[in-house]
Amino acid sequence: MRDTVTAFVGVGANLGDPVQSVLDAIARIAELPHTRVVAESSLYRTAPIESSGPHYINAVVQVSTSLTSLELLRQLQRLEAEAGRERPYRNAPRTLDLDLLLFGSERIDSAELQVPHLRMYERAFVLVPLAEIAPDLVSAGQLAAVAGQELTPI
Ligand code: ADP
Ligand code: MG
Repeated sequence: MRDTVTAFVGVGANLGDPVQSVLDAIARIAELPHTRVVAESSLYRTAPIESSGPHYINAVVQVSTSLTSLELLRQLQRLEAEAGRERPYRNAPRTLDLDLLLFGSERIDSAELQVPHLRMYERAFVLVPLAEIAPDLVSAGQLAAVAGQELTPI
C-alpha cells in the first residue's frame, strides 16, 4: 500500500444549479477509490474571472489519498465528464471544474498536470476557501493580493 498524501481540490460550477453541482461533486470525491475527504470549505459565490456567464459557486476540499497525482487527476476528470462538462472553448462556462491545487508538497510540471495549480495564487475563489480549511497554507500577503475580487460566502 502506498503512503497517503494530503491533497486539495478546487471545485467550481456556474451552469445549471451550481450549488447542487458543487455539493454533488464533493459527495462524489468522497466516494473515490483510496481517497477520503478530510475537510470541506464553505461554499462561496464569486464573479467569473477570465470566464463568462453566471456567477460561480466555489469550494475547496482536503482529501487524503493513496492515488498518485495523475490517478487523482484522471478521477477528477471522470467526475467532470460525468457531470456533463463540455469544453467548447477555453474558459467557457462549465457545469463542473475540478482542479488539483496541491498534492502533498510535490511540485509537478508535466504536459498534463502542473501542481501547485498555476493560477491558484491569483484567485480569491481558491485562496479564501483554502485558507478557511488550511490556514497554514495561505499567507496574509497572498490573501491581501486577491482582496479586490468579489466573493461572498453562502
Ligand atoms: P481551468 O484552468 O480553467 O481549470 P480546464 O479545467 O479546462 O481549465 O483545464 C483542464 C486542463 O488543465 C486539463 O487538460 C489538465 O490536464 C490540465 N491541468 C494541468 N494542471 C492541472 C491541475 N493541477 N488540475 C487540473 N487540471 C490541470
Ligand atoms: Mg480545471
